[in-house]
Amino acid sequence: MKPILQVDLKAIYQHNKDEIDKAIKDVLESGWYILGRHVEAFEKEFSEWTKIPHVVSVANGTDAVELSLRACGVGYGDRVATVSHTAVATVSAIERIGAIPVFVDIDPNTMTLCPNHLETMIKNIDKPPKAVVPVHIYGQMADMPALMDLSDRHSFYVIEDCAQAHGAKFNGKNAGSFGHLAAFSFYPTKNLGAFGDGGAIATMNSELSEKLRCLKQYGWRERNNSLISGVNSRMDEMQAAILNVLLKKLEGYNRTRQQIAAIYDDSKNPKITYPFRTRVPVSEHVFHQYVIRTKYRKSLQNWLENNQIQTAVHYPIPVHLQTAYKNKYPIHMPLTVTEQYAKEILSLPMNPYLSSDEMNSVAKALKAWNL
Ligand SMILES: *Cc1c(COP(=O)(O)O)cnc(C)c1O
Repeated sequence: MKPILQVDLKAIYQHNKDEIDKAIKDVLESGWYILGRHVEAFEKEFSEWTKIPHVVSVANGTDAVELSLRACGVGYGDRVATVSHTAVATVSAIERIGAIPVFVDIDPNTMTLCPNHLETMIKNIDKPPKAVVPVHIYGQMADMPALMDLSDRHSFYVIEDCAQAHGAKFNGKNAGSFGHLAAFSFYPTKNLGAFGDGGAIATMNSELSEKLRCLKQYGWRERNNSLISGVNSRMDEMQAAILNVLLKKLEGYNRTRQQIAAIYDDSKNPKITYPFRTRVPVSEHVFHQYVIRTKYRKSLQNWLENNQIQTAVHYPIPVHLQTAYKNKYPIHMPLTVTEQYAKEILSLPMNPYLSSDEMNSVAKALKAWNL
């Protein structure tokens, strides 16, 4: 029996082979490989898709977070609040500019940055954060209205980490349209993934987008005279051409992810805590990952493995407990939920080319699991 894959990147290529081959050939034959018409088209299409007026493509999602912070004037010694329950990339981006990450515990339902904890932290800390980076983990958004309200009252910038949330919504509005800036990643496994690295920053603010256009390429507005100090963080034409093909599929892929989630939800094993979508009715989850919790993770993982079902853990060690970060930064509040959940979470197979048989086999195995 063929194992049921947790992610399946090859399937994405195989199902879109003709279009992707054509897109790549087109770039190869054009003789134009950096900042050309494919990148331009992608920025325009992605802006239309997210309904966010300015999109600046960059080399990857980590750069998208870093350059967003820089565009807001965040730098050496500034505090940036975020979660420890995230891909380490969020924190590397903060560190890269010499800023200091301040960790906030997560909401036990959505597993995203908890606005109440953030407010308590701001009241107790000597130097409040200059920016906050909520992470819309697994495809479900943080409570953005509450966070923007805090931002108004305590004047900090908000940079949404949308790396896992292409198309997620809150009150009908897309992820990325609440904060001052939004960072997207197109790492191959994301809901919208390139066949290499890619990223983008989306914003309503034209001044910030102009600054980002300079920052991402040596500080240039015009060639050969840097206006500000910048970096090289460009999306290449090849990746943009591939993303233009896959962006057309994104809506459909997200719907399929939601259908898979509904089938898993139905398995209703009492020993499993499911990410029931009903938890936050105003929020639309796009299931970058379908993550359950159980106190008996090892047992469930073994059971699924014996049933030829691949699983993964996103992420087994909270950032503040990883080797590089232990005792590196002051911890301002107990990260109780973060630490507890890291031991219980499990990501089930979630990819848009799972067959009906495969989804049903996973649901059946979940239902049948016993200690
Ligand atoms: C993937 C990811 C990133 C980083 O993106 P890269 O493109 O790999 O640099 C940042 N934050 C989160 C939450 C991610 O999942």
